[in-house]
Amino acid sequence: MDIPKSHPRYKSLLNREKIVEALDRGILAKAGLIAHGRGETFDYLIGERTTDIALRAIKTAAAILVLAENPVISVNGNTVALAREEIVKLAEELNGKIEVNLFYRSEERLRKIKEFFEENPVIREKIKSGRIKILGIEDANKQIPNLESARGRVSQEGIYSADVILVPLEDGDRTEALVKMGKKVISIDLNPLSRTAQQSTVTIVDELTRCLPLLRKYVRDYKNLDREELQRIVKEFDNKENLKNMLNHICNRLKNLQST
Ligand code: ATP
Ligand code: MG
Repeated sequence: MDIPKSHPRYKSLLNREKIVEALDRGILAKAGLIAHGRGETFDYLIGERTTDIALRAIKTAAAILVLAENPVISVNGNTVALAREEIVKLAEELNGKIEVNLFYRSEERLRKIKEFFEENPVIREKIKSGRIKILGIEDANKQIPNLESARGRVSQEGIYSADVILVPLEDGDRTEALVKMGKKVISIDLNPLSRTAQQSTVTIVDELTRCLPLLRKYVRDYKNLDREELQRIVKEFDNKENLKNMLNHICNRLKNLQST
């Protein structure tokens, strides 16, 4: 589909196209369409922009990622469909680890996601040279406790041994299981009420493709800060409070809209 660049919701329509294409290519499970639609709804309520509230969570997430010893970015079909290049760029600023972790795990979809990464010649080169690692496909031989087998299968080198996991668009059960394992979980989720949002160590309530470049910018900047400064940023952040602020933002925005 040819979307005119002048369309006021150009970026949203472009993302929708990417999601549909990913479904056609077998990268996305059908349920991924529902997840995307739910995200769009919340983004409407938020105002389709990165709020200052989300920015605080982004900065905290960046500080945690810089402080991490072994961070991993966990990706699913939606994330890869929308943000393949950005995910790779962020991983490069960290230790290069990306793990494919699917709610509906199927060998075929795992293979297709791997191919999707490799199809980009720049990314293929980075994988070949070892700057980027796509984990969780052939090496998912560890099990997250308290999750049934397929959903809990992870890589030893990736999620299993990670201290910090960035999980864009994750499901609540898995988030809870990872936190129970003692890991710090950073989620990106437009729904401040989801179990994922409620369970995470830090929840970034923002649209994935909008917040990833910002997150990468802060990761880069924060590498210049000393550990005490980074720890202060983390300590001053309260996730429950941040989520409350987000709900307040939505309420106020709707009140203002209905009174104008
Ligand atoms: P749970 O309560 O288990 O967390 P859930 O509502 O999160 O359930 P899922 O389908 O697992 O259900 O999660 C998809 C989540 O991702 C939704 O909350 C949706 O708001 C969010 N989402 C979808 N697309 C995007 C996007 N592009 N950017 C940010 N968040 C998104
Ligand atoms: Mg969720």
